Amino acid sequence: MTLAYIGLGSNLEDPLAQVTRAFDELSALPDTQLLERSAIYSSKPVGPAQPDFINAVALLDTQLAPLALLDALQAIEQAHQRVRIEHWGPRTLDLDLLLYGDLVIAHERLTVPHPYLTQRSFVLYPLADITPELHLPDGSQLSNWLHQCAPDGLTKLPSNPEC
Ligand code: AMP
Repeated sequence: MTLAYIGLGSNLEDPLAQVTRAFDELSALPDTQLLERSAIYSSKPVGPAQPDFINAVALLDTQLAPLALLDALQAIEQAHQRVRIEHWGPRTLDLDLLLYGDLVIAHERLTVPHPYLTQRSFVLYPLADITPELHLPDGSQLSNWLHQCAPDGLTKLPSNPEC
């Protein structure tokens, strides 16, 4: 079994519901357990003008190999009828494989750690909710990256937004 961190993002078609449903779908993946879910955040978009994003991170314990896990993530994205109009543009659901154990992967379909992991507050802050003491495969500490990344535009939502 391998610990894998997944980044979730949505800014179309009821983003909070998209991300909540995606957590359920991650927990239903074969040979996989959903161990933890971060708080849910709202973030300002990078790139063209578009609605704010909802972001979160999930921690999985999985027996799926990295490319099989990527296939499974992409199948979930497809099931959400993901709309992808332009690079950095709005999307119904985006699932990123952030970390897969301590592996460093440079494959034509898969780069791990995810290339933007250390630069995006909407990834770093939810990761720290789950594992504040996390080290990346290169030995660097999540907390150091976090301190270099202002949370600009990132807002943690109340744990039950309906309250
Ligand atoms: P995006 O929609 O911007 O997340 O990009 C999706 C594309 O990135 C797909 O073609 C994936 O094969 C590729 N990709 C490369 N590395 C990763 C990763 N760590 N997680 C998710 N997709 C990845």
